[in-house]
Amino acid sequence: MSPGVSITGAAQVLRPPEDGLAFMRHDRAGELSAEPGSVAFEGDRIAGFEPDPTAVWQIDAQGCAVIPGFVDCHTHLPFAGWRAEEYEMKVTGVPYEEIARAGGGIRASARALARASDDAILAQARALAAEMLAHGTTTFEGKSGYGLSVEAELRLLGLAGRLAEGVPQPTATTALLAHAVPDGYDADGWMEAVAAMVPEVARATRATALDIYVESIGFTNQHLRRMGELASAHGLDLRTHVEQFNSHRSIPVALEVGARSVDHLSCLHPDDIGPLAAADCAAVLLPGAEFMGNEHVPPARELVEAGALCVLATDANPGTSPIVSMPLVIGLAVRRYGWNVLEALLAATLNAAWVLRASTDTGSLEVGKRADILLLDGPLEHIPYRLGHNPVAIAFLGGEPVWVRPDCAWRVAG
Ligand SMILES: [Zn+2]
Repeated sequence: MSPGVSITGAAQVLRPPEDGLAFMRHDRAGELSAEPGSVAFEGDRIAGFEPDPTAVWQIDAQGCAVIPGFVDCHTHLPFAGWRAEEYEMKVTGVPYEEIARAGGGIRASARALARASDDAILAQARALAAEMLAHGTTTFEGKSGYGLSVEAELRLLGLAGRLAEGVPQPTATTALLAHAVPDGYDADGWMEAVAAMVPEVARATRATALDIYVESIGFTNQHLRRMGELASAHGLDLRTHVEQFNSHRSIPVALEVGARSVDHLSCLHPDDIGPLAAADCAAVLLPGAEFMGNEHVPPARELVEAGALCVLATDANPGTSPIVSMPLVIGLAVRRYGWNVLEALLAATLNAAWVLRASTDTGSLEVGKRADILLLDGPLEHIPYRLGHNPVAIAFLGGEPVWVRPDCAWRVAG
């Protein structure tokens, strides 16, 4: 427990317009305030917004912005190894089919996973979690999905449990049981195997959500509906990878089965914007994956104006998005989506926490919430503007200064 921290004299403190909001629709992002101020916390909780001269830790925040820690609600941790050779093939024009024939793609990651020891997989994931923390991510989600067999998926979900115990950040786990069709199955046959394993996933792993990849090379809207039914039957949330490379009109199906989020949306159909914006379902956008894959830009400005519950995440994975930096994702979103910095920050904090059912505890600066807080080395507007720069000077996790950038150590006294 922290013995008391006072972050004093910040140029900007990012606050919601009122306490207790589980999320904010994006047409309200302009109601966030970023006024000069201070933040004090006691133990692991935010105690108030006045300086506390009695606090043991005194933080000089002059010229700095203070914001909630980032919540990265869509990553594929843990995984084994990387696929840099594929990236070079992709950018120099080799078609994906050829890369897949040469043994690449999701199957390459599944083979690497099968070869790697549990300890090696966990060591890589822990190192990535540390890199994420240094870039301000104080809560993250990870998915299974590179198993491609019942046994290997259960192994991965077990590793997710060990990862949760081995990293400082709170984590959430999603069972991405329908990622690619495993060898020896067709999509229908694999969905039968998934249905048979869901009870064990719900009972014996820490997964709180199911996930599915709907695409011509993956699964169909019918499988999506089935996954939604399985999720509700076992008290799990439904997350979805949809409308990434083509428009399959998966949104109406996802909304019908009560999906918590629809992720990717590069090829979102214009007719689906209104219903999605009206639903309690997050539009999770992944600008890092879009950039690395040279994908279409989703109608993100339209989603904001329609009042959707928008979210940003890294999609950190060895294939399409080897990116773990939320500041970089925010920079890409602002440029590519035509968002302002408040819109991007709302999507990277409170609304992202809502996806993980964590927004009562983190995601905004409110008295009583966990002190997951970032001190930035400049104003908010520098996050997207200084693209590639890491603006995080100090990251507090549950009130503890878990990351202090060496050149900013002078700001800490106590
Ligand atoms: Zn993904």
